[in-house]
Amino acid sequence: KDPLLDIRNLNVDFRTPRGRVHALRDVSFSVPRGKSVGVVGESGSGKSTVIWAVTQLLARNAVVESGEVLFDGEEVLSWSESQMMDVRGEKISIVFQDPMTSQVPVLNYAQQMTDILYRRRGMSMAEKKKKAIEMMRRVGIPDPESRIIQYPHQFSGGMRQRAGIAMALLMDPMLLIADEPTTALDVTMEAQIIHLMRELQREFEATLMVVSHNLGLIAELCDEVVVMYAGEVIESGDVRDIFYRPAHPYTQALLECDPAREEERARFLPVIPGDIPDLHMPPQGCVFAPRCRYAAEKCHDVEPKPTTLPEAGHNSRCHLLDGTVTVPSGKSKSAE
Ligand code: SF4
Ligand code: MG
Repeated sequence: KDPLLDIRNLNVDFRTPRGRVHALRDVSFSVPRGKSVGVVGESGSGKSTVIWAVTQLLARNAVVESGEVLFDGEEVLSWSESQMMDVRGEKISIVFQDPMTSQVPVLNYAQQMTDILYRRRGMSMAEKKKKAIEMMRRVGIPDPESRIIQYPHQFSGGMRQRAGIAMALLMDPMLLIADEPTTALDVTMEAQIIHLMRELQREFEATLMVVSHNLGLIAELCDEVVVMYAGEVIESGDVRDIFYRPAHPYTQALLECDPAREEERARFLPVIPGDIPDLHMPPQGCVFAPRCRYAAEKCHDVEPKPTTLPEAGHNSRCHLLDGTVTVPSGKSKSAE
């Protein structure tokens, strides 16, 4: 079966007063139907830009230089704004990071949710309201008949995000995109929301793409992981392959465990020494070379191409994998 979402060799630049920023470079990955795929990376890695490109919500200064985005077999990048509006309302929906800014403060939930259902022309207002109440109940909002006439500011953070999920599922979308869905929540709320999303994804047989810097969330929620760094996909594959056998030195560094910071690590990407390269002038070799402990001369000169590892579908972009660069002796992973 073809994947629901297929991103091929996508290149996106931002025009800025200082020149062009190469925000996405040769990004390729796919989201299989019925699966959940997590896109993980630091801020500035390009993970949000991928969402904006897929949903055609890129800022005005963004230029899609080349590449393809196929959704359900159709090229998205050539769609008109009105075609895209239809798709965003009907087939793709987004759970945003901060419901306070994505929900309409002056409308109560009944109004917002019946607005979302405006395309369901065959449904009466009473039926729409009933469906909205059912969905509120399904996401665990107690007493939905009376809560539905409240406004976002009357909900706690966790309840607001539950309402956000209810709204995203109302139209029974084919693709649900979650943009750092638990960032605004405390750890307990976060765990509840993750479990809810996992349950709902299965129940609704939806395809899920989650963007996050939270490795724990990706591990719990996703079947596959895409690791982004400095605008490139540097590793992708099955969630177990990536977490147990990371191939790329960047992914390895992310997963190395500092027991004293275990709890933090579960929520945030660990800090790796060095800076993300300036994407006005990406390095000519490997993007990770300035921070990589294994970097050899070749790494600074030649950009590694994605290599497929023996495990089905596990890809990584690193010269170590084709054997042209080797780990210097005394610099093994355990010696660090
Ligand atoms: Fe490190 Fe070289 Fe691999 Fe880049 S290509 S991640 S610099 S070893
Ligand atoms: Mg972001």
